Amino acid sequence: MKPRIGFFDFTGCEGCQLSVLNLESEFLELLELVEFVEFREVITGNGGALDIAFVEGSICRDDEVVRLRTIRERSRNLVALGACADTAGVNALATASSPEALRQKIYGCETPLLKTFPPSPLSDFVDVDARIPGCPIDGREFLAVLQALLMGRPPELPAYSLCVECKLAELPCTFEHGEICLGPVTRAGCDALCLRGGDRCRGCRGLIDAPRSAPYRKILEQNGLSVDEILREFRTFNVIDKGRS
Ligand code: SF4
Ligand code: SF4
Repeated sequence: MKPRIGFFDFTGCEGCQLSVLNLESEFLELLELVEFVEFREVITGNGGALDIAFVEGSICRDDEVVRLRTIRERSRNLVALGACADTAGVNALATASSPEALRQKIYGCETPLLKTFPPSPLSDFVDVDARIPGCPIDGREFLAVLQALLMGRPPELPAYSLCVECKLAELPCTFEHGEICLGPVTRAGCDALCLRGGDRCRGCRGLIDAPRSAPYRKILEQNGLSVDEILREFRTFNVIDKGRS
């Protein structure tokens, strides 16, 4: 029997699921190896136990917590698919204000039908067996994680910072242009995508496992930047402090 795979989405743009579909020919080859049991963007789900659940999106409502726990119960492995699921992703921006203040700002009144709480990563509510970081994910990394899980070994992510990939690409340091860059503390694996495009790193792949704060603080001081400025930047893709008003 083929391994049974499911895809599920919560609060997010579904761009990570699209990245999987964009694999095109590799995706079709996958159909030979696994059975896609649930994948709302392409098929109607048929329920049952799963070998791997790929879950996209942040958790923002009580009913989402209930649904997530149900998915966890029926899945041998649960994978956080993309930044929204892994670190709360761009939804983390909403944690700079309280849910009430945000609703007031957007709708001009309290809306009883929108009872949300600050966006949270999946790991706040269930055990997560593996993560695929990024906004959106990289299709190659998805295939590598899937392969590892199917072979029964723990998936590995790069443990070093994005600066390594930036330097391998022989790019000038973004700090030299006087711009904040989260490369020194962000997990590598995107091949310095934004930096190659002339932008800076905004941390969509989340923190490396053991960020070295002292050298980073030194870089900030040398460039006249404060820790607060970095935290503000970091909040673009990562929850730091929920419910601040
Ligand atoms: S991580 Fe980015 S691409 Fe993926 S669902 Fe969230 S916003 Fe969309
Ligand atoms: S450079 Fe930074 S923000 Fe851009 S894709 Fe890589 S980790 Fe994400």
